[in-house]
Amino acid sequence: MIIVLLGAPGAGKGTLATALKDQLGVHHISTGDLIRAEIKGGTPIGLEIKRYVESGGLVPDEVVTKMIEGKIAATAKDGKGYMFDGFPRTSAQAQDLDKILQKNGLQIDFTLYMEASLDIVLKRLTGRRVCKACGALYHLTGMPSKKPGICDKCGGELYQRADDNEDTITKRMTVYAESTRPIIDFYKAQGKLKAVNADREAGEVKAALLKILNDAKS
Ligand code: ADP
Ligand code: ZN
Repeated sequence: MIIVLLGAPGAGKGTLATALKDQLGVHHISTGDLIRAEIKGGTPIGLEIKRYVESGGLVPDEVVTKMIEGKIAATAKDGKGYMFDGFPRTSAQAQDLDKILQKNGLQIDFTLYMEASLDIVLKRLTGRRVCKACGALYHLTGMPSKKPGICDKCGGELYQRADDNEDTITKRMTVYAESTRPIIDFYKAQGKLKAVNADREAGEVKAALLKILNDAKS
């Protein structure tokens, strides 16, 4: 099963993928996580791309596509399938993904457009907290950890992402509207687009995707 999650920052792509990757037995590939790992590790690529992420812009297509190509090459043979989260984000990336999958004898089953309203995603992003150790996602009021500032899963410290501040969020929303939204039509034209209302709480969105998968089987 190969699913692409589409939607604005804060639509809940990472939350959904984390909740379902084990149940569906797919690899969760988040370019945001891959990019943050390069930056944290201080690798040559990380040093080069840090400024794009911190300003709320996009990392150049070639860099991101290479990361994805490496991940797919390393895992395609295991046949588990993928849930892509945060990739593709531009038309060029969408075309590259089709090509990379094709080279490996694979293709996208469908893309899930997670439709969320602006006021809701803004609240989610400003209140988002992330575990430094395991990457688990929380929200100050919507999905709080049991102990403030501490991860329920691993006891790690929670932090606020540097790009989850108001100015950078505004920039990310503009970038989303200009560069990412157009690829929704690309998938619609291929007959591969399904949509869910992502304003709802995480459990309901998860149930909506499971229903889509079930309906597709019968
Ligand atoms: P969100 O979905 O909340 O914006 P992500 O973790 O997916 O968060 O992305 C964080 C940042 O990483 C983006 O603002 C962008 O700078 C960079 N990034 C992630 N995925 C891509 C991509 N596919 N292409 C270019 N840049 C990306
Ligand atoms: Zn943790």
